[in-house]
Order: sequence, then C-alpha cells, then structure tokens
Amino acid sequence: AAPTRRAGRHLLQIPGPTNLPDRVLRAMDRPVIDHRGPAFRALTERLWPGLRRVFGCSGPVVIFPGSGSGAWEAALVNTMSPGDRMLMCETGHFAVQWARIAERLGLRPELLPGDWRHGADAEAIRARLSAPDGGGFRAVCAVHNETSTGCVSAIPEIRDAMDAAGHSALLMVDTISSLGSMPYDAEAWGVDVTVGGSQKGLMLPPGLSFNAVSAKALEAARHAALPRAYWDWDAVIEANEGGVFPYTPATNLLYGLAEALDMLAEEGLEAVFERHARHGAATRAAVAAWGLETQCADPAQASNSLTAVRMPEGHSADAFRALVLERFDMSLGNGLSKLADRVFRIGHLGDFNDLSLIAALAGVEMGLCEAGVPYGAGGLDAALDSLMRRAPSAPHAA
Ligand code: PLP
Repeated sequence: AAPTRRAGRHLLQIPGPTNLPDRVLRAMDRPVIDHRGPAFRALTERLWPGLRRVFGCSGPVVIFPGSGSGAWEAALVNTMSPGDRMLMCETGHFAVQWARIAERLGLRPELLPGDWRHGADAEAIRARLSAPDGGGFRAVCAVHNETSTGCVSAIPEIRDAMDAAGHSALLMVDTISSLGSMPYDAEAWGVDVTVGGSQKGLMLPPGLSFNAVSAKALEAARHAALPRAYWDWDAVIEANEGGVFPYTPATNLLYGLAEALDMLAEEGLEAVFERHARHGAATRAAVAAWGLETQCADPAQASNSLTAVRMPEGHSADAFRALVLERFDMSLGNGLSKLADRVFRIGHLGDFNDLSLIAALAGVEMGLCEAGVPYGAGGLDAALDSLMRRAPSAPHAA
C-alpha cells in the first residue's frame, strides 16, 4: 500500500497563516475558562499593553472573533454612512476586495488605479483629493502590505498627501500582513482605523481580527449611520472596561495572543522588524540570482513579509506549487485574481529564522529544477551570502 505518513514537518510558506510557535500552541492547550470570571479579566489585562505596542497606539484596540475581512467591515460600518464616498488605492487583490465590501455596504468607493506592481501613489492621492470634487471623500483607505503582490505602501507619505490637500477624511489602513513583521505606528503616522488579523505576524491561528481606533474615528462613529450590531465598537469598548466582551470571546485564541505578545516583547519589536528585513533581502537576492522577477517592481517598496515571484512566460505557477507540495511538503502562496497562475508567493514572516528561510528557498530552487522552469544557478548561495553580510540583531535583553 502507498505510505500514508510523511516524515518531518510540513513547511507552511504561504504569506499567512504562518507557522505556529510551540509556545503559542502550548499557551492555547488548556481548558476553556468562564469568560465572565476573574481569571478571564486577568487575561484581558495582559493583552492591552502589548497590543497597543504592536499597533503603535494609545487608544482602544477592538478585538472581534473573525477573519481579517470582518475587521475590514467593522472599520467601515463604524465610521461611514450610506452613500459615503471613499478613496481606495488599487494596490492589488486585497485592496480591491476591501472596495467590494464597501460597495456591498452601500458606500461609494473610488479605486485610484494601480498596476499591482507598486504601493499606493501618494502624489496621485493628493491630486485626487485636491480636485474640485475631491472634497467629499469621507475616508482614504490603503493596504499597508499588499499580500497579493508583495508591495508596501508608504503610509506616512499618504498622511502627508492628505495634509497637503488640507483634507479631513479618515485614514484607514489594512495592516493584516505587516503587523508584527514590519514597522507600523498608527499614532505617529496619523492613521484613524487600523485593520489587523491574528494569523500572520502575530503567529496565531486565524480567528481574531482587530481595529485600532483613533479619537477622530471614535468621534466619526458617533455620527456614522450605517447599520451595525455585532461589529459595533462601542459595545466592545464598554464591555472591555469591565474586563469582558459583549459576545463569547475566542478564549483560547486570547491565551495564544497574550503569549505571542510576550514573545514579540522578549525579542524586541525592532529586532523582529530587522529579522524580517534580513529575510526579505535574502529572499530577493535568491530570486535575482535565479533570474526571476519579483511582482513588486520597485525595490524600495519591497515587502519584508512575503515575496511574490513572477513565473517565466509559458510556465504555470500553480503547477510549480503543486510539484513543490508533492515533492517537498511545502506550501507556497498562489497568485490571486488577475495574478492567478502567474506568480507564486513565498511567505517569510512570523516565527521564522535563517535556517527556516534557507529550507524554504531550497525547496523553491529544487522545485524550479524539477519543474523544468528556466532559472539561474546560485539562488541559495546568494541568500546565504546576503544573510551572512547582514549580521542578525543580538538577542534582546528583556
Ligand atoms: N487584507 C490583507 C492584506 C490580507 O492579506 C488578507 C488575507 O490574507 C485579508 C485582508 C483578508 O483577511 P481574511 O482572509 O482573514 O479575511
């Protein structure tokens, strides 16, 4: 009979959900407690300082059991009214999905066109906001790290563009695949609503979503007329004051979250960001040596949490990914919507070190060889060289 077991660990190198650290798994492996009792209140108290640190905020971080898409919806229904116009930057699949949700909610999103190879264009935002009909936008929305393309949008530049246009719109940012992997600072960057999820840089399973909310967004919520019930911020913020939630919370995911926040603090957020930057640079060095192209066309905008690699003409990215899964037990990310079968994505985020990166890149290089994709030799060597030239941060003294 064919073997039914594969030896060794599966490599989950999609750009989220990410590999779970054993510490997080152990932290969740416990009985469910009373979510209105004293032990639960103690658990929630542990969450707020760490959450505020990763979001870079001092106001509320609203937690919902839900996926990132739920946090998108929550950001909109709490701040907008039917028919409100919003300017959304078309950086890729996820930016478009967020705009579709806005449309379904009865909002009027306008997509600022993009080529899916760059981050948002701050100058185009400034020009659109300054146009004669540009005053009416109630929000500007951007995806910080576009997971479908591996391009980063410079949020401070978008803030500057809004300020230069003298515009009062809310700034909403999706940080689902950058939070806890790349520098992010909601307050310093003037972001009003930050959308997050548990399953990427926070090293947790899918199932928690977040909105970090500014004072201006809370004020907008007082006048926003879209119907909202489950996603209502006020109900959660009020219940949180007593250490509880207005719904049954995902208790064990919250244990995992407390542990993951401790782990990020022990390593030090700056060191976490530098680790992702080293791995992003080493991955791009490998891709360049293979003679392949990254989907992100501007090296200054390249993501440090994932790299989307363009498949040479005439070769199927999905067939390549299927071969890598079958031969090496590694999952790579697929191309989404118009990039379907055209790119594969290497996730290099979360609980990840030099040797996990090298294993992932070795799987890609062997896969290219076996799939008969034309590529240059030496990708792995280029990655090793990149890692060795950029010394890792010293362990953080807690
Ligand atoms: N935004 C970004 C940037 C994402 O990468 C994702 C998922 O990968 C989402 C939104 C949607 O989140 P979810 O799939 O958890 O609903």
